[in-house]
Amino acid sequence: MEPEQTRRQRLYRVSAIVLKRRDQGEADRLLTVLTRERGKLTLLAKGVRRSASRKAGHIEPFTHVDLLIARGKSLDLVTQAETVAAHRMLREDLWRSSWAYYVVELADAFTVEDDPQALLFDLVAETLERLNQGAEPALCVRYYELHLLGLVGYQPQLFRCVACNELLRPEVNFLSIERGGALCPKHGANHPQTIALPLPVLKVLRFLQTRPWSEVTALQISPPTAGQVESVLARYIVYHLEHTLRSPAFLERLRGQLANQGSGRAATGQPG
Ligand SMILES: [Zn+2]
Repeated sequence: MEPEQTRRQRLYRVSAIVLKRRDQGEADRLLTVLTRERGKLTLLAKGVRRSASRKAGHIEPFTHVDLLIARGKSLDLVTQAETVAAHRMLREDLWRSSWAYYVVELADAFTVEDDPQALLFDLVAETLERLNQGAEPALCVRYYELHLLGLVGYQPQLFRCVACNELLRPEVNFLSIERGGALCPKHGANHPQTIALPLPVLKVLRFLQTRPWSEVTALQISPPTAGQVESVLARYIVYHLEHTLRSPAFLERLRGQLANQGSGRAATGQPG
């Protein structure tokens, strides 16, 4: 029999969000979880696909769960699971579910294993909570994208020109994704690699970047501006994922969405 102390050393607790899962063997599942204490982990949950499993209901996608883990030879094992927040609406409402999948896929794509980032964990947990409680999904997810970029080291500079460092004036400015921020008209106009940033788009991006969520909920954005904000952020994200190559499949889907946005605008933006 192994001494109690050895047994305890083999166990650890984490606060986790289930990012994805896949079946393994007859009754097991492999889980990818984002934890507050240890970053992203891959864990084995044994027997969870048996109907009698007590762990099963606790380790569904998007669930915020406390886990007791045992170190294993190759993979660590889930030994106990207790739900902190089930986020039931995110699984039952197909539309909200698709937003929640995007949130966890983006977190997965921008993180590596065993690199703990408590603030990132909190951001993902709060975003899922907001979506589950009925927050406007697009607003919630744009806020998430901008804050996630900041936390993983790609915060766009939206107040000063990244070329001359002058404060941007209230006019049409530009964005260079490669250079990580906005450019004044002098440095950004007539450049093939920059994106025009009309003032309403810049204002929304700044608001999302700097204000707390409680203020962001009151934000009213016109559909064209919301579309541009979405497109700018998607391009920013695709660029950085391409340069880290952490999640090729997810990247393909994002590229597909961007292409659809482009064709959608082309189809509706040319009346007569
Ligand atoms: Zn400049």
